[in-house]
Amino acid sequence: MYDYDLVVIGSGPGGQKAAIAAAKLGKRVAVADRGHMMGGVCVNTGTIPSKTLREAVLYLTGFAQREMYGASYRVKSEITIGDLLARTQHVIGREVEVVRNQLMRNHVDILTGTAVFTDPHTVVVEGPGRGDHNQVTAEKFVIATGTRPARPPEVEFDGEHVVDSDQVLQLGRVPNSMVVVGAGVIGIEYASMFAALGTKVTVVEKRPAILDFCDPEVVESLKFHLRDSAVTFRFSEEVSSVQVTDMGTITNLASGKRIPADMVMYSAGRQGLTEDLHLDKAGLSADERGRIEVDSHYRSSVEHIYAVGDVIGFPALASTSMDQGRLAAYHAFDEPARELRELQPIGIYTIPEISFCGKTEAELTEASIPYEIGLSRYRELARGAIIGDSYGMLKLIVSTEDRTLLGVHVFGTNATDLVHIGQAIMGCGGTVDYLVDTVLNYPTLSEAYKVAALDVSNKIRALEAFEKREEAVRANPSNATKDEAKESGATGSVPTGIGSKDAESPSTNGASKAAPRSRGKQTSGSS
Ligand SMILES: Cc1cc2nc3c(=O)[nH]c(=O)nc-3n(C[C@H](O)[C@H](O)[C@H](O)COP(=O)(O)OP(=O)(O)OC[C@H]3O[C@@H](n4cnc5c(N)ncnc54)[C@H](O)[C@@H]3O)c2cc1C
Repeated sequence: MYDYDLVVIGSGPGGQKAAIAAAKLGKRVAVADRGHMMGGVCVNTGTIPSKTLREAVLYLTGFAQREMYGASYRVKSEITIGDLLARTQHVIGREVEVVRNQLMRNHVDILTGTAVFTDPHTVVVEGPGRGDHNQVTAEKFVIATGTRPARPPEVEFDGEHVVDSDQVLQLGRVPNSMVVVGAGVIGIEYASMFAALGTKVTVVEKRPAILDFCDPEVVESLKFHLRDSAVTFRFSEEVSSVQVTDMGTITNLASGKRIPADMVMYSAGRQGLTEDLHLDKAGLSADERGRIEVDSHYRSSVEHIYAVGDVIGFPALASTSMDQGRLAAYHAFDEPARELRELQPIGIYTIPEISFCGKTEAELTEASIPYEIGLSRYRELARGAIIGDSYGMLKLIVSTEDRTLLGVHVFGTNATDLVHIGQAIMGCGGTVDYLVDTVLNYPTLSEAYKVAALDVSNKIRALEAFEKREEAVRANPSNATKDEAKESGATGSVPTGIGSKDAESPSTNGASKAAPRSRGKQTSGSS
């Protein structure tokens, strides 16, 4: 008889949800984590603090209100790191309590310390005190140990001048200038926050572009905004060394450029946290980036040991980790469950934020899937004007074959929430007509869906009119003569003319009669 039915290692989103799902199935469950890390990276150093910091930056700098009140508008003129971190600490404290309380009310035991396998069914949880260790056995395990920032061995991190993305939350002051090495999601999110605070940011990225999995138009808009906030991009550049001096730091690039700044933040990927686990004692191993391989049920190569969350790699999001944890627990205890839907949203909390779901234009073009796009700009929405967001946009990508929604890309205020409307429609196989035929609250940003839906519907209608005409010409080649006659008149608004009653009415009167009629119609149509 084991001490527990399930021991979960790590209390981040994946671990929490695995533990609670198993407890709800009536299992005896324990979660092991370091005392100061209850809630995981998500609550303590990742998602929650970074998003709270962003909210504090937006509020205190008055960034979102400057359109209304002018570029010099501030809620607080001198923003200190204390102002920013007070809010962050408050939210972390609350979230830790929520996690602890959820585990406790589901009768999940909390084992404080670092879990180490001693055999495939046993872990020792080593607490901070001397002799503070607790050996427990379990029938099943879920490893949800997450990741830590990867640190290039040649760089010396001192937590003050040279920091990683965890240490950025312990800064002593808001830097005047900063180099961000690595333009992945985390790097760009922090770059945009510091830029909004007034820090002069230089982003160094070895690839030639940022966020290349996103819509290029959206990325262009983001880059424009960041440049406007004094961010400099150094693409296709590698850092060769970082020097720390009394005056701050110098980042030396392989190309010979030297960038002076108060501090340097490395955001160079993350490493799976598996080195402490003694995986070999459980018959397991990790790859060179510390990741554990799993099957579609999140089961590792050892049948009773599951792994979820960042430690299994892509997509490494809190959102997906939670569901992975729940599904792993269900599978471990033979509870039937449906797999996660493939369609998953991406949210990037830059300032302004980005979100998308479904396909990008590049993917569809690559796959030769015909589509049309519908655009809505926030500046044309009443809500956009009310909140002072003139740059936001929403793009719908719609199949021209069956009008299904293939992708939605949003840039600007509330993008990460708005995307879910499109996701729900796509998830149900819906078409753009749902949006055309649905009344939405006014004035809202959701109205962007309606505007974009009408835009794309009009484009598709124009296309269909061409196609109808082509068909008609194929069926009756004498129509082609009429077309030529039209072309000799105003050609700019052919779709409008074709869509009009006159153009659709069968006109069998011959070219000589049709030409003046249609010319007259089109001239008025395009005026
Ligand atoms: C700066 C930043 C911003 C982010 N923003 C977002 C976002 O906006 N949206 C989003 O969805 N995701 C975001 N993420 C990603 C998100 O935080 C992670 O995907 C998520 O936290 C992963 O959850 P997890 O279950 O794998 O565990 P984690 O949250 O990584 O926690 C793992 C836990 O395991 C514990 N642990 C490790 N080894 C042991 C051991 N041997 N014994 C006991 N305990 C151990 C650790 O102490 C830690 O508490 C962000 C990440 C970062 C770093």
